[in-house]
Amino acid sequence: MIDDLIGIFGRENVGVDEKDILAYSYDASDVEGRPLAVVWPKSAKQVSRLMDYSVKNVIPVFPRGAGTNLSGGAVPFKGIVVDFSRMNNIISISGGSVVVEPGVVLEDLEKELNGRGMTLPVLPASDKACTVGGCVAEDSAGMRAIKYGTMRDWVLGLEVVLPDGRIIETSDLSFVGSEGVICLITKATLKIAPKPEARSLTVVEVGTFREVQEKLFYYLDKKASSIELVSARINHIIKRPLGSRNTIVVEFEDASGDITDPREVSRITEHRKTISSQLASEGYVMVEDPRVPLEKTAEFLEEIDRLGIPCYGHLGYGVLHPRFMNVSDRRRIADVVLKVGANPVGEHGIGVLKKALKTKDWLVPLKREYDPKNVLNPGKVFPGGVVPDVQEVRTCVLCGMCRSRCPVFKALLTESVSPRGMAIFIEKGLKDTVFWEKCSQCRACDGVCPMSAELSRKIRDRREQLIKEGVETPGNRVMMENVRKYGNPFGKTAEGKGPKELYCC
Ligand SMILES: Cc1cc2nc3c(=O)[nH]c(=O)nc-3n(C[C@H](O)[C@H](O)[C@H](O)COP(=O)(O)OP(=O)(O)OC[C@H]3O[C@@H](n4cnc5c(N)ncnc54)[C@H](O)[C@@H]3O)c2cc1C
Ligand code: SF4
Ligand code: SF4
Repeated sequence: MIDDLIGIFGRENVGVDEKDILAYSYDASDVEGRPLAVVWPKSAKQVSRLMDYSVKNVIPVFPRGAGTNLSGGAVPFKGIVVDFSRMNNIISISGGSVVVEPGVVLEDLEKELNGRGMTLPVLPASDKACTVGGCVAEDSAGMRAIKYGTMRDWVLGLEVVLPDGRIIETSDLSFVGSEGVICLITKATLKIAPKPEARSLTVVEVGTFREVQEKLFYYLDKKASSIELVSARINHIIKRPLGSRNTIVVEFEDASGDITDPREVSRITEHRKTISSQLASEGYVMVEDPRVPLEKTAEFLEEIDRLGIPCYGHLGYGVLHPRFMNVSDRRRIADVVLKVGANPVGEHGIGVLKKALKTKDWLVPLKREYDPKNVLNPGKVFPGGVVPDVQEVRTCVLCGMCRSRCPVFKALLTESVSPRGMAIFIEKGLKDTVFWEKCSQCRACDGVCPMSAELSRKIRDRREQLIKEGVETPGNRVMMENVRKYGNPFGKTAEGKGPKELYCC
């Protein structure tokens, strides 16, 4: 198999050693798998050749964007992971649309668009890391869904590779939200909109969930572009709370909110995005994503709170996120979801975790037609199949946000040199000598990590430990000596400049 994959992708785009296998065994959910190999395609043609090969040999294929999925959808079980991170070109921007490869990160795209006065207004809280391909495959929603809908509303056309190897151009929206089970998305044409001239926020705190619901309807009437909730229970759990009571963050696309300073608006918006990872770092690693009818908001929140389960989410869009530590809570939450008539899968997809709760009926005939041998993302979406292991990694919560800042990851675009990859290796005791050398100790990952995992320090400690154990390469030792002597791995002094200014990306 390795030679066949190298024949298609080239040696540098095939990973089969333990570091690749481990780094790609997870996504951001609590599910653990294990692939046989990882490939990094550069073109739809290569993906097509892979599908020919996989169908002939009945080897499962698992598409992957940034691995920020929260339902286990990107976790592989004994097959080939197709990591689209190296297909990350913005091909063209013209008028009201943009054409991109699937591995383009949403935040990178947004920066490029904003520079031209445009925006793709779908804003998942994972936008720093998640990719266009992953968001189309999940039909992701996010913080502005009340005004702008979900990814489906922004897709004009797709290029996809079908399991039989055909590459087709389509405007059929059945491929949106298909969770990697019927096609691999290799190109997307997306609608874009003019960027609003201003954004402002109002932050309100209320005591009861009845008041939360009242505020929700009040701000919907005011045409808010985003209404987000962080419950009092959460504010009491996390280290960096947004308030002390039930806190609602309302965004307007004009200057009508109380907070108009763009830096403060951005600071609070970014802070809101960290809630998921902050909760995970306190042990609340599991999450649900029901879409609750708006008039049932208070009832849902009261019932969930009565169970002692913290909850936050996209209040205006009705997608709420109960967070919990014990699998048994999943059943208790499902009962409340059923009681209030909510859709159990609001935005995170079915993956492996929601197979018992929801079906995507429209995918059933398409799966039968396109993938009769079930080679594409098997074990996902449809009932039956794999019962996943629960992950043991606790060094970090695997959210993947550090991918957006680590210069080594950005240069090499493989999970095995990302801070997240290294967190997995620390946890699993991997002693491979090469990847430890790559970290430049720039500390950029620490700046973005919502759970303050301090990966740079842990990597440095791990290097020290490996050297002490005699596991080293020449570079490893030289680098550690430089870190000790100069505070940076390059052995240079810099007058008036600390290592962070010098080496941060
Ligand atoms: C901190 C945090 C906050 C989040 N907030 C939100 C939110 O506000 N709203 C929201 O909707 N989600 C949210 N999510 C969930 C997640 O970010 C989204 O599901 C996102 O769309 C996944 O994108 P990705 O690039 O990471 O894809 P992955 O996680 O790698 O993959 C997701 C699914 O898409 C498939 N896939 C990926 N790329 C392709 C492709 N090119 N072709 C075919 N299939 C593909 C995979 O097989 C998998 O089933 C959040 C996650 C985290 C960790
Ligand atoms: S310290 Fe810098 S190079 Fe090292 S893992 Fe963190 S971001 Fe990457
Ligand atoms: S190191 Fe921090 S940012 Fe990176 S995956 Fe872990 S928790 Fe997320």
